[in-house]
Amino acid sequence: MEDETTITVKPFDAHAALKSALDKGILTEDTILAAAEESAFGDEYTGYCLECGYEHEGVEPDARNYVCESCGARAVYGAEEIVIMMVP
Ligand SMILES: [Zn+2]
Repeated sequence: MEDETTITVKPFDAHAALKSALDKGILTEDTILAAAEESAFGDEYTGYCLECGYEHEGVEPDARNYVCESCGARAVYGAEEIVIMMVP
């Protein structure tokens, strides 16, 4: 376990990115809710890139700002973290 320092990372507007991803259909609420449920009740940890929607395996449920393997954006969030953001 290592502590990732995120001080130098420019704040990423995850809420705006999530809204845009949902608007564009890159991600759907159903997909995210299903993934969060699997994380909660199983050992499948899934995260999604809020920029391109790429699915990442092995992402902790509370992950934030992980680097996307597909587009390189620091926009990968754990499914549960995304669900929390969907709640107004
Ligand atoms: Zn991406």
